[in-house]
Amino acid sequence: MLIPARMSAAEEQRWVSVMLDKLAAQESRRVPGDAELAERAERLSAQYFAGRARAASVRWVTNQNTRWGSCTPAEGSIRLSHRLKGMPEYVIDYVLLHELAHLLVPGHGADFWRLLEAYPRTERARGYLEGVAAAARLPKDPGVRED
Ligand SMILES: [Zn+2]
Repeated sequence: MLIPARMSAAEEQRWVSVMLDKLAAQESRRVPGDAELAERAERLSAQYFAGRARAASVRWVTNQNTRWGSCTPAEGSIRLSHRLKGMPEYVIDYVLLHELAHLLVPGHGADFWRLLEAYPRTERARGYLEGVAAAARLPKDPGVRED
């Protein structure tokens, strides 16, 4: 499972690049459908996991508000939160790879993260998601706050 984490001080810098990314990517956003998600999962597995992770189904769900993605290894099913829609492609790809990796390795131990090291944008995507989670907790109008 992938759970939005709190943003630490060290991640604030990353957040800046996340915002720049967001602006740059905005124009090229389009949301893939379930069929395209499944194709992407297959392509990503082939590219980064030598095709070893095989998802029987991949789909968007709207009932996941505290998780970005989840999977049921016994069924080979992967679900992505609709909140990822409109995020950059590399972030959605990371969540797909994360859940695909869980089809091979349960939990978040060293073996799990070793698999994800194959994807060059893992750290960047994690920073992006952490930034989004942190932004959701920011005051709506930080300009009025007095320090
Ligand atoms: Zn996970």
